[in-house]
Amino acid sequence: MVCWDGLSRHRQSGAVDMQSTPIQNCGRNHSAPGRPGARYGLGVTPDEFRHHGHDLIDWIADYLGGAGEPSGVERFAVYPPTVPGDVRSMLPEHPPVAPESFDAVMADVERVVMPHITHWQHPSFFAYFPSNTTYSSILGELLAAGLGVNGMSWVTSPAVTEIETLMMDWMVELLGLPATFLSTSATGGGAIQATASEATLTSIIAARWRATQGAVNADGDTTRLVAYATSHAHSSIEKGLRIAGIGTDRLRFVDVDETYAMRPVALRAAITADLADGLTPFWVCAALGTTSSTAFDPLRAIGEITREYGLWLHVDGAMSGIAALAPEYRSTQDGMELADSYCTNPHKWMGVNFDCDLFWTSDRAALLGALSILPEYLRSQAAGSGRAIDYRDWGIPLGRRFRALKLWFTLRCEGTEVVRQMLRAHIDLAQELAGWVHADSRFEIVAPHPHSLVCFRLVGDDALTDALIDRSNATGEALFTRTVLDGRSVLRFSVGGRLTERRHVEAGWALVQRIAGELR
Ligand code: PLP
Repeated sequence: MVCWDGLSRHRQSGAVDMQSTPIQNCGRNHSAPGRPGARYGLGVTPDEFRHHGHDLIDWIADYLGGAGEPSGVERFAVYPPTVPGDVRSMLPEHPPVAPESFDAVMADVERVVMPHITHWQHPSFFAYFPSNTTYSSILGELLAAGLGVNGMSWVTSPAVTEIETLMMDWMVELLGLPATFLSTSATGGGAIQATASEATLTSIIAARWRATQGAVNADGDTTRLVAYATSHAHSSIEKGLRIAGIGTDRLRFVDVDETYAMRPVALRAAITADLADGLTPFWVCAALGTTSSTAFDPLRAIGEITREYGLWLHVDGAMSGIAALAPEYRSTQDGMELADSYCTNPHKWMGVNFDCDLFWTSDRAALLGALSILPEYLRSQAAGSGRAIDYRDWGIPLGRRFRALKLWFTLRCEGTEVVRQMLRAHIDLAQELAGWVHADSRFEIVAPHPHSLVCFRLVGDDALTDALIDRSNATGEALFTRTVLDGRSVLRFSVGGRLTERRHVEAGWALVQRIAGELR
């Protein structure tokens, strides 16, 4: 009998009763040649797709659950006790020689995958930053896969480009960003990228072009270029600089203040020192919400310096930027009109499933100068007329998925008010949590917690906090990550799951307290 549905309700209605369909004899001969689907070299027929799809949707709904109903994900340990090699050892070493039934594949999902994934949608997932998904975005993703279009150019699928452009403009409005990022502005616009890392690299490439008046495209010479960020900026900044040929040695880590935010005075000093050495300062990354502790670099002060010296200012708001959907969290964006580029991730806190990063620039000429290449086979009248955008020139890859669909679906079907309510609830919960930590003298809070992340440690040796994190995570009841602030180990308690309620935060804190009690 079908047995993959540990989570799904068996579908009783419809053309096929899955409950009465044995895996080994499901009434469809998967290896028989000449059946309808096989003539295209694809094994699964439309009818099979229909009913497996329905069952899979049921399965996902049971896994994720919803407000007021228990979610299947809570049945799992947040973090699996897997050791490297466990998963592979559960699967055949060689690929199948004949097609298998979908039921057999799903049985392996239950047996192999589910016990061995970290459940990012688990309400007690307090690690990293969240990666939320919503039903509407999943449906948008499914439709994008079904349409199977490539939106590399306007002409390859006009709706992909135009809906993406519209979504980027809608998000400018919803986040209260400057009009210089709008596609309708004289010099700006935006594109969806896969990740903030990709957006950061894209901005470095555009800045590199501008700083060398385009020469870098031909000679590749980056030897004098220098970049600036704090040591709390995301690792993708260093990675992007390595990829772009700048290298780690020409990344200056600018001093921070007691909140771990960049000190503008130190930035100015670093830039003038490099100028005096005959180098070319070209790119600064300001973080709006660092990964370690959600520190906010002072944007306006930094922007005034980058304008004065003609540097490209990239702003990384990967996680915290989404909070600007709620107007009361927009003050940290003050000075954004001085930025040359900005990115934030709906795939973290907004419920648009991974991957979806929004990247805007107010200097699209630099971006296009750096990345446009026009081979004959990509020429089109539409692009030639200057009336159409070819998004392949706005990022690293040529081929582009219809990512805007999941954002469009989310904005239309979920609405933004529900996201605002979620953000506010998370931030309130984190503030409550900070109060509990504060009241327990065994712990110290080590950074401001303006949003939904609280960083704290056990008073005493780092080994205590390290053990606290390891042992808490090993229970599978919740998941936390570690960072280092001021050279000391810190537990990051990041509240941001769509399914996370007060009881989960309470339980997470109770777990931390219990383990702390065992360690002392
Ligand atoms: N920037 C910040 C501030 C982040 O917190 C993260 C990830 O957590 C990133 C960049 C990288 O994000 P992505 O996974 O989209 O590349």
